Amino acid sequence: MDGDNNVAVDDLQYLGRRSLIRMIYACTGLTLGVFCALQFMAGNYLFASIELIFCVALLWGVWGIVRARNLLPWIYLYLLPTFSFMLYIIVIPNASKTAFAWVYIIPVMSYLLLGRKRGSMLALPFVLAACLLYLNTYPVRLDAEGLIDLGNALLCGVLLMVFVHLYEARRAFAYKQLQRMARTDALTGVANRGSFQQSLEQSVREAQRSQAKLVLVILDVDHFKRVNDQYGHAAGDQALQHICNSLSQRLRNTDTLGRLGGEEFGLLLRNTGHSAAEPLVEMLREQIASKPLTYGDKQIVLTVTFGMAEWPSDGQTAEQLYHCADQRLYRGKAQGRNQLVGRAMPSVRLSEF
Ligand code: GH3
Ligand code: MG
Ligand code: MG
Repeated sequence: MDGDNNVAVDDLQYLGRRSLIRMIYACTGLTLGVFCALQFMAGNYLFASIELIFCVALLWGVWGIVRARNLLPWIYLYLLPTFSFMLYIIVIPNASKTAFAWVYIIPVMSYLLLGRKRGSMLALPFVLAACLLYLNTYPVRLDAEGLIDLGNALLCGVLLMVFVHLYEARRAFAYKQLQRMARTDALTGVANRGSFQQSLEQSVREAQRSQAKLVLVILDVDHFKRVNDQYGHAAGDQALQHICNSLSQRLRNTDTLGRLGGEEFGLLLRNTGHSAAEPLVEMLREQIASKPLTYGDKQIVLTVTFGMAEWPSDGQTAEQLYHCADQRLYRGKAQGRNQLVGRAMPSVRLSEF
């Protein structure tokens, strides 16, 4: 079993942000490198040295971000000084009036790098501060021309904020949908194989930390091929949905049901040992067997065989648990199906012969 697909989807958003902030560090570093050379040629050694220091720091950042576990410090380390510098260039003496145009980049960078919530919390105060500084430095002329200038600048800024906010909201929603689809089995709506495998591995790690018990159950529909052959593939699909509905109704929020493939499912019962899991799984088995699927005017009787393994007595790792539950499931098949096999075969004592 492997859960690589889900890991890839989970990392998609993070990968995008990582490459974006790296590119921003690299571009800013290289630009400062060029300015440093120009200042040096013009004899401005102080500015050249300052720019050289920032150039080296940013290029070092390009390397550091690859290894960073948390991107947020790197993002804030760039955005806070950059946005502060954008405010500063509005108020320095003899600054060009058009230096204000840089402020429009603040919401774009904030939302792209930090998402909607953090992005708006950072962008809003900086944009407001920039507007106040601009109005203080260049008082508005109250004639038609002055008001048109102000209207253009404000409208453009407000529209940019609204667009970027709506775009990020749509993107985050689409990403959540994609993440849900990548984790879910399309036919039954339960966790897919990769996602179930991740849950199993994580639960084993948690159980190792807390020493709480954990039960893995693997179940396989009996003679499912006959259902398909007798009633058709569509009926088979409905039978799988019917079984998942029956199982889901009786499970706790902390339990996980997943489709491992075909007509085989996994059930993860957290904080539960053998003795508590056995009656629950018996009840699930009886419920499935006693509630046939109504398919048109037909009643399709379905039965399921279960193999169960407990952490840590039956296996220390996810793989060992899976192997043990699988072996017991196939023992249940060999013993006649429609049953739960939850324990090792009783050992045969010589004295019994
Ligand atoms: P056993 O009791 O030994 O498990 O017998 P079985 O017939 O259930 O097992 P077998 O492996 O021979 O057949 C499984 C069948 O499940 C074959 C395959 O066509 C069918 N199947 C797998 N996935 C799906 C699905 O998504 N929909 C439908 N309708 N059938 C499926
Ligand atoms: Mg089967
Ligand atoms: Mg099977």
